[in-house]
Amino acid sequence: GESAMHQNMGENGMDQSQNSPQRHDIFVLLHQVFGYTSFRDGQEEIIRCLLRGNDCLALMPTGAGKSLCYQIPALIFDGPSIVVSPLVALMQDQVAALQANGVAAETINSSKTRDANVAAWRRLQQGQIKLLYISPERLMTATMLKALQKFPIAMIIIDEAHCIAQWGHDFRPEYRDLGKLQQIFPTAVIGGFTATADAMTRQEICDQLYQHPPTIFTHGFDRPNIYLQIQHKTNAKRQLVAFLDQHQDQNGIIYCLSRKTVMRIADFLTELGYQAYPYHAGLDADIRRHNQERFLAEKNAIIVATIAFGMGIDKPDVRFVFHLDLPASMEAYYQEIGRAGRDGKPATASLLYGFSDIQNRRGMILKNTTYAEKKRLDYQRLEALLAMCEASGCRRQILLRYFGEHSEKCGHCDNCLAPPQQFEATELAKKLIAIIEETGQIFGQNHIIDILMGAKTARISEKGHQHLLHYGAGKNIGRVAIKSYLRQLYAANFIDIEFENYGALVVTAKGAAVGNGAGPVYLKKPLVQDAKPSRSLPKKGVDPAQEEIWDGQTQALYAQLKKLRLDLAKQQNVPAYIVFPDAVLKQMAIIRPMSLEALTEINGIGVKKREKYGLIFLRLLQDF
Ligand code: ADP
Ligand code: MG
Repeated sequence: GESAMHQNMGENGMDQSQNSPQRHDIFVLLHQVFGYTSFRDGQEEIIRCLLRGNDCLALMPTGAGKSLCYQIPALIFDGPSIVVSPLVALMQDQVAALQANGVAAETINSSKTRDANVAAWRRLQQGQIKLLYISPERLMTATMLKALQKFPIAMIIIDEAHCIAQWGHDFRPEYRDLGKLQQIFPTAVIGGFTATADAMTRQEICDQLYQHPPTIFTHGFDRPNIYLQIQHKTNAKRQLVAFLDQHQDQNGIIYCLSRKTVMRIADFLTELGYQAYPYHAGLDADIRRHNQERFLAEKNAIIVATIAFGMGIDKPDVRFVFHLDLPASMEAYYQEIGRAGRDGKPATASLLYGFSDIQNRRGMILKNTTYAEKKRLDYQRLEALLAMCEASGCRRQILLRYFGEHSEKCGHCDNCLAPPQQFEATELAKKLIAIIEETGQIFGQNHIIDILMGAKTARISEKGHQHLLHYGAGKNIGRVAIKSYLRQLYAANFIDIEFENYGALVVTAKGAAVGNGAGPVYLKKPLVQDAKPSRSLPKKGVDPAQEEIWDGQTQALYAQLKKLRLDLAKQQNVPAYIVFPDAVLKQMAIIRPMSLEALTEINGIGVKKREKYGLIFLRLLQDF
């Protein structure tokens, strides 16, 4: 009852008495100190684990409530606990919040005056402190460690524990030393906390921080209100417009890889009448702030951004996150889609990925990373994401498994709702593998596809590749489909891409086995049918230089349009540009208007020319 509760509070450092009877109820502390009615998923188990004196490593996403998991045990243990945290500013905030709740917490750090630090130390000496927050640099000095050894340190908490992982995404050299703590304080319970730790990082934390393997908890990663959808990139712009058609009047974030794409897409959407604001680190600070404010304030605004956007943004009603380009890793993907649906209402995460994304990402890893080991791990992180993209099973299950959380099939991702068809593709796989092997494993995907499709290119005749056994064997498959198959073969590790060698495709041991008769190989039918925008074509022309929309199909269509133009020009004995300039044909190839009315939306087609050439061009477009 009441009095027992007050005893608890005294015993737990809320008051002075250190030696009151051992009665603590973690629920009482939850209600009385923190003012919450119930624990969140995972909190109670972690608290009980630490209270039993067992080391733990807890993985919970940002905002899930990790602090409480160690603050409550710290209040219950007799001796003081140390909390290591990388950011002084956050440390100050946490301590201020705890003190406001009447908790005996202190911080010693470089942003405080010497006097204030001395005063904090004195309180610790007097046994008045339950939680001491300290930065790793400060903690790991010889004098500090020696001084702290005089206290019965109950627990050492490493917040943002992934910072200890040398090949993780956020390594802090100051964290490396923390591995010594287990020996310096042999009786202290060790608790590591982090929001991001893939299997490799997890392993490194366990190896570094603990004497014995800790109990690992993973909780709260599932975001069941977010519908997951992943599509092959066939024509990014058209797919985006089709998506937005189904998500009208909603707030959303569109993530792009480059600043250039951000600006183009923002312009494009603005022309279509959307409230779209660009955001990337290269924009003026004023513009960035303005655009962010508009996004936060408006009801149906879209922010088009590089990953520079989102840190610390907490807009609860973001209804969709659309990835126009592939994120760097599963963790990045998870973080970015996590900005949707914070209010718990249904939201959509849609991702487009294509072979060029894989190449871009792998190229970036190669360029950004000096250490071979880090490179290898970054490739693996990317591959985990690709495997999910190519998977035929439940997306959510794969995503959660990556974070160590088990789940059943979710029933509301794209694969659950419409399981992709698979077919036996052993023969096709063998042909592709043979072509790669027979051409010396030095060519990129385009040449390999050209050979399978029986294309007549200069390179093919120069190399004599038209004489290969499988030249032209995939005439009827189509370029988009073959690209998808190559990607799937890559995702399933039958072939590999050599980035040091300009993206040459090579055959792995697993692939070689298929070439020698192992099998079967199953592949997914690609989603070749392109999404078609149902409304709102751009008033002015679009920029055809945009790499992601200028794909093979569009180029092929453009070539056909040019041929038609040439025929017409010859018939009428006029120069080709008099029929239509190149810019008009490029727009046609990209936008693919399907009616006379839609033709007028293209910049450069007036009434006259529409009457004269409209129907004949439309026929070509429709046939295509
Ligand atoms: P994390 O460190 O995991 O990112 P925090 O520990 O900072 O998250 O907690 C995030 C927010 O959730 C804080 O405002 C915290 O007070 C709140 N919170 C934590 N646990 C609970 C709970 N059991 N009930 C309600 N709110 C909670
Ligand atoms: Mg935290």
